[in-house]
Amino acid sequence: MVKKFNGYKIFKGRTLIIATMHHKEKVIAPILEKELGVYCKTVPNLNTDTFGTFTGEVERKENAMVTVKAKALAALERTTETLVIASEGSFGAHPSCFFMSADEEMVILLDKKNNIEIRGRHLTTETNFNHQEIKNINDMKEFESRIGFPDHGIILKTKGRTVEERIFKNFPSSVSLRSKVNELLQGNKTITAETDMRAMNNPTRMKAIEKAVIDLVSNVKSICPKCNAPGFSVSAVVRGLRCSLCNLPTKSVKGYIYMCEICDFSCEREKENITQEDPTYCDFCNP
Ligand SMILES: [Zn+2]
Ligand SMILES: [Zn+2]
Repeated sequence: MVKKFNGYKIFKGRTLIIATMHHKEKVIAPILEKELGVYCKTVPNLNTDTFGTFTGEVERKENAMVTVKAKALAALERTTETLVIASEGSFGAHPSCFFMSADEEMVILLDKKNNIEIRGRHLTTETNFNHQEIKNINDMKEFESRIGFPDHGIILKTKGRTVEERIFKNFPSSVSLRSKVNELLQGNKTITAETDMRAMNNPTRMKAIEKAVIDLVSNVKSICPKCNAPGFSVSAVVRGLRCSLCNLPTKSVKGYIYMCEICDFSCEREKENITQEDPTYCDFCNP
């Protein structure tokens, strides 16, 4: 059988649209131009804020998986190109360590010409995602140093008893930020300071996006053994890694199911370098 695709070389020399209005191309373009041989381009006047903002001005209606694809398609609609990448971040409690803040970054690569969709993901606790009530200028100073202002942006929100919430952002320096805080404090407003999570105002987040793009590239370079399409990636985990003491299966991961979304071929691949689980994690040895 003739293999339908030419691996990830199907992207080489093509124009890739980066769906961003927050300068994510700074980290995305160098990686993809080097690794996939594409030419990156952004779309002028793209407004990704309509899909939701971190400040709460626009609520995100769908989950990150759905939103990131909608963003990619919206950017593509404004061009005659067929290849696009988009990213979407989510911030909150870590899914397994609830007391820690986490940043989950999703990226998607869509190829309309070949009908291919490949995803990348990075989950990290390295985030300055935070908020704090500001009662005086010392609270502000403390929050600034904690979250790494001015390299990382700060957003101020106020709420009076009768007035609607107001949002202030894009402070270039401590002088401008503190003068706004003083003004609001004099007006007896309740002030909350928040980290600005927009990529261009948050270098820590930019790094997380970069790692999600690196994950995407490794998925792109994983090629389906049957049809040669790129994006042969993990669709499920297989548990049952055997205990090194009693040899019974544990709940730990022993391998992964890889699946091709193009031809539906799938296979199981064992986890590299780990063949047995420590008895600490065995329900029989250590109930
Ligand atoms: Zn395939
Ligand atoms: Zn055991």
